[in-house]
Amino acid sequence: QKEEWAKLVNEKTLSSDNVQVELAANIGTPADVKGVLENGAEGVGLYRTEFLYMGRDQLPTEEEQYKAYKEVLEKMEGKPVVIRTLDIGGDKELPYLNLPKELNPFLGFRAIRLCLEEQDIFRTQLRALLRASTFGNLKIMFPMIATLDEFRTAKSILIEEKEKLVKEGTEVSENIEVGIMVEIPSTAVMADTFAKEVDFFSIGTNDLIQYTMAADRMNEQVSYLYQPYSPAILRLVKMVIDASHKEGKWTGMCGEMAGDPIAIPILLGLGLDEFSMSATSVLPARSQIRGLSKEKISAHIDEILQMDTMKDVVEFVEQNFK
Ligand code: PEP
Ligand code: MG
Repeated sequence: QKEEWAKLVNEKTLSSDNVQVELAANIGTPADVKGVLENGAEGVGLYRTEFLYMGRDQLPTEEEQYKAYKEVLEKMEGKPVVIRTLDIGGDKELPYLNLPKELNPFLGFRAIRLCLEEQDIFRTQLRALLRASTFGNLKIMFPMIATLDEFRTAKSILIEEKEKLVKEGTEVSENIEVGIMVEIPSTAVMADTFAKEVDFFSIGTNDLIQYTMAADRMNEQVSYLYQPYSPAILRLVKMVIDASHKEGKWTGMCGEMAGDPIAIPILLGLGLDEFSMSATSVLPARSQIRGLSKEKISAHIDEILQMDTMKDVVEFVEQNFK
């Protein structure tokens, strides 16, 4: 099997009926790019920039960040690289920010909420990203967006920083796509509205499942509610993909679900454009997709979304599309 996978390193990702999708990888540091390329990923679908901020006692400087982003973009040689702005809070703490303890950190002051409030931190990161943008194919993604206003504010800050840089004589790419993570149910529900203003969506199922099922993703006792294949989650995913396509935009997925062999046939059938996963899952996923007919699965999507339980969905996929 490993030998068969190795042959696919330089191949595109095509279904048996020749529908092309993009298989990308998730990374946490520039050093991870090596594994991305060795495993034949076609891009980086999620660069979690939190690691630049963690395990130290002060914020990273603009220069430090610029170097990290530039390195990733250069090493990826023009392939798409989605860099997510700071997603701190929840399970990811930064002691040196001295943020007040919260009763419900996953529902609290985190990610874009913090960035829009602590704008110095946000602007520094955006400047580093914009300066690095000429070294590759950068796409900027905001995490934990719950309302259109948050997206509009974040984007206007990005544009302000871009204009400042241009005025200072710094070169900035003119082709940076700006998208959002869909990981809060309100945003999935409003995807048709968002789709008019964002360039792309990336569905963060790790959080989308936690928030939709109201089940803490770190709590073993409620892990039975963590149901990626539940019709509730699949209907939300469909809403997001359909809304993006209606506006000529694309949808990716960067939660664990994107690399899951049971989920992959369903996601292909739903029309997901980009699957971002851990690098080691890329070749197995490519091999699996080559054996799947998108058209055949699509014909069963309504039936799957009408099923009663996650178990029914899993059984159907295992019997028909594995
Ligand atoms: C997600 O929520 O699915 C995601 C990819 O982000 P993180 O796991 O970093 O919260
Ligand atoms: Mg998340």
